[in-house]
Amino acid sequence: MTTFKELGLSPDIQKAIDELGFTEPSPIQEEGIPPLLAGHDVIGRAQTGTGKTAAFGIPMLQYLDPDNDEVQAVVLTPTRELCIQVTQALRTYAEHLDIEIVAVFGGAPIRSQQSQLRSGAHVVVATVGRMKDLISRRSLVLTAARFVVLDEADEMLDLGFLEDVEKILRMCPSGRQTALFSATMPPPIQRLAEGYMYDPIMVSITPETLTVDAIEQAYVEVSGRDKTDKLVEVLEAEDPEQAIMFCRTKLGCARLERDLRNRGLGVKALHGDLSQGSRDGVMISFKGRRTKLLVATDIAARGLDIEHVTHIINYDLPNTSETYVHRIGRTGRAGRTGRAITFVTPAQRKDLEQIKSDMKISIMAWETPEERLEHAPRLRGRQGGGAPLDEQPATSNGDPRSGPAEDRDSSRDSDRPEKTDRPEPPEVPEGRTKLFINRGKRSGITEDDLRWALQEGAVLPEEAVSEIRILDRFSFVEIDSDRAEKTVEFLDGSKLKGSEIRVEVARS
Ligand code: AMP
Repeated sequence: MTTFKELGLSPDIQKAIDELGFTEPSPIQEEGIPPLLAGHDVIGRAQTGTGKTAAFGIPMLQYLDPDNDEVQAVVLTPTRELCIQVTQALRTYAEHLDIEIVAVFGGAPIRSQQSQLRSGAHVVVATVGRMKDLISRRSLVLTAARFVVLDEADEMLDLGFLEDVEKILRMCPSGRQTALFSATMPPPIQRLAEGYMYDPIMVSITPETLTVDAIEQAYVEVSGRDKTDKLVEVLEAEDPEQAIMFCRTKLGCARLERDLRNRGLGVKALHGDLSQGSRDGVMISFKGRRTKLLVATDIAARGLDIEHVTHIINYDLPNTSETYVHRIGRTGRAGRTGRAITFVTPAQRKDLEQIKSDMKISIMAWETPEERLEHAPRLRGRQGGGAPLDEQPATSNGDPRSGPAEDRDSSRDSDRPEKTDRPEPPEVPEGRTKLFINRGKRSGITEDDLRWALQEGAVLPEEAVSEIRILDRFSFVEIDSDRAEKTVEFLDGSKLKGSEIRVEVARS
């Protein structure tokens, strides 16, 4: 694993990264930053949540000359929300640099943006339409823009901006460096890359990694008529910190908001029929965690990076597998786990099967958190504890280190032990045993707490504990095998940070 220090960042950028608490580069940063720093064009297949903004932002900031007042870099984004988000992120990375970053987007007065540009901008982050407008009014000149980023290029394609993007690219110097980020690479984007990029290096963070790594996925089969009732039941059972519920249409979105409101739930909607002002209001309230539940259409929620979303609910099944990945990628951010729950009507079962096979993912029938816990495998040989662990198939829905698993349709037999959301632990070295603990970050458990429990509680010497890993809802510890049984005996059912913990030998 490369560290940020090894990437050779300028001290001022490194300082900002340190202050943000980023300890190591994300995969897209690890692979994307070096070629961009070396001046290559890069195509990054990655979406929001992977750390792509820093992947292009850091090399971009490092390239800029603060003493040159021209616009030296532009970032094109498909939506106003993403434009604002990227600008905010870049400003944090540029905290200790003398660099002006200006956001220009539609739906806001053009005058103030013109005056910001007049005052000087090294970087302009823009939506396509507004950038075109500012260029035609001669408020923006791109002749010195030698670093160009197309962010979420496939979204720009979907929104019909590709031709305008090409026009803008033609206005930038031909010797520029271009970075293109896109979650998918449909043919028009490939053609754009061929026509406007020079020998680009491909860097790919596959959707499979994103979905399988940190997001527990489930489906709920429900008739169209019962959907709202079922949604209320799911929300009550899951008790999300924050959830986004996706609807296919603006009308459906408005209707669901009203229905949920009528049932006394605090909910807001985000869709294209709202004024920009209302959309901003909703976003601010959701990002500030004053709103817990958000009903949104795909377009409105594009590229949003919201930290605390614990649940994505596909109230309407997405049209394509790509959309499925886009939607659920809004949870399970930066080391957290999230849950994605997809509603399907009986007629849509085959569409869900298609998503599962396209994305090579496993989606289980939904169970309440209590049922999930009940179905988690019990300790080998325990009385009344369900099937022995070595008879239980593995699952892959939660462990950042597990790979894609063979799909299983758990609706076939509700009593089968495979219906567990417990992640499969990775390989354990000889002489070590991995223990599973049913609490994680969400219960406030830290590495120090577990170390304390193991060393002070179960009286293990320090060297008997080789690894501690805290996930959102679970933890794993690796200890000397000959101490495993006693440790389980001692810790299982004990209290840690006020909550009872269950400790078991994890299947290896
Ligand atoms: P992005 O995909 O650029 O929208 O980033 C998603 C989230 O990950 C943002 O909240 C970033 O602040 C955060 N992030 C980006 N890079 C890192 C990193 N190396 N370590 C931890 N968090 C990061």
